Amino acid sequence: MKAPSPQQIHHYAAYCLGLKNYLKTPGDGRCHPSIPASDLLWAVVMGYILRVSSFARLEWLSHSPARANLGLPQGFSDDTLAYFTERLDASTTRTALAATLQQAKRHKAFENSRFIGLALDGTAAGHTCKSPCRLCHPVKDSKGVIQGYLHYFVMISVVGTGLPLAFDVEPYGPGDSEYAAGQRLLQRAVSLLGPRFADYAVADAKFATAPFLHTADEVSLPIVTRLKDNLPELYAAAQARFVPQPPQAVFEVDGDRIEVWDAEDFAPWETLQWPSVRVLRYRQHKPNGTVIEAYWHTNFSIRQVGSLSLFGIAKSRWQIENQGFNEAKNLHGMEHIAHHEPNSLLLGWLLLLLAMVIERLYRVRYLHRGDHPLRSAIDLVYCLWLHLGRSPSPNSS
Ligand SMILES: [Zn+2]
Repeated sequence: MKAPSPQQIHHYAAYCLGLKNYLKTPGDGRCHPSIPASDLLWAVVMGYILRVSSFARLEWLSHSPARANLGLPQGFSDDTLAYFTERLDASTTRTALAATLQQAKRHKAFENSRFIGLALDGTAAGHTCKSPCRLCHPVKDSKGVIQGYLHYFVMISVVGTGLPLAFDVEPYGPGDSEYAAGQRLLQRAVSLLGPRFADYAVADAKFATAPFLHTADEVSLPIVTRLKDNLPELYAAAQARFVPQPPQAVFEVDGDRIEVWDAEDFAPWETLQWPSVRVLRYRQHKPNGTVIEAYWHTNFSIRQVGSLSLFGIAKSRWQIENQGFNEAKNLHGMEHIAHHEPNSLLLGWLLLLLAMVIERLYRVRYLHRGDHPLRSAIDLVYCLWLHLGRSPSPNSS
């Protein structure tokens, strides 16, 4: 197999992932563009794969000898990227991301999984001390003095499949709320992916509000959320019932001993229009003596999903933290603001997710096929950088 290169990744994205039309016409909103949208879009996406998120660094790269190997016919300025991303249509990229996931599912990228989940979680990124945009939330010190601004958004990811893929974000400004953004995001995700794509939604306790759970009902997705003292009556009722009892079952998962308590006849709180609530408590004993205890609640019945499967679903929520936010922030620059303008910020996050989806499917599913060993993410990045330094191969087309 030829060594990985940006051209090979472009070919893979265009023809194996079905992104050819999107990469050519990604929703350009500029009136008189001098540089094609396809080149600027590819520069930003490839930049995230190469872990270069700054528009100024992309400008430098586009004027360097590496330009031809990046697949860019001409150089551009960071202002060109700012102007382009301010006007790029978000819905075109969101639709392309969802279509890529549908294609991956059709090509059995998630075949080892009994259940496909959608995890939602919120985060903050893009700290700035410059003048605020409409998405800026003030960050105050202990005396109430504004020390800067942060941008908040909810992200959604396919989880529970061994190949977590985050595919959309919904920002929310200071007058909005995390779970309202989560409602919009879940509705849009199901409308783009189709009603039968996923088997469940999973989220942390802050999403355990009646309006959010009812949104999951409206899109016909069973929902699993963490139960903490933000729902004091249900939490107290579950503790009162489970703590005095011995565990109903004990499982072994990856060397850990898991004790579970599970019942589906708890009363819903006043505003929740469910006939009853199922609560799972688990105590996970690690070999080193650490014990992790947690409560989760759901509208899955025990007949649909047993205690061990529900434990696995609850644990799948961590994939949006570990393979989602952590990798996006620590490796691909999600914390960084390339251009401080609301649409540009949104498109930056969406194109970063697109880059991660392309990179993961290419590395884990395409390069790994046959008897090739799984290439690490950093190994692929080094390989691509080495390729950028080579003399460009003559065009044989
Ligand atoms: Zn801002």
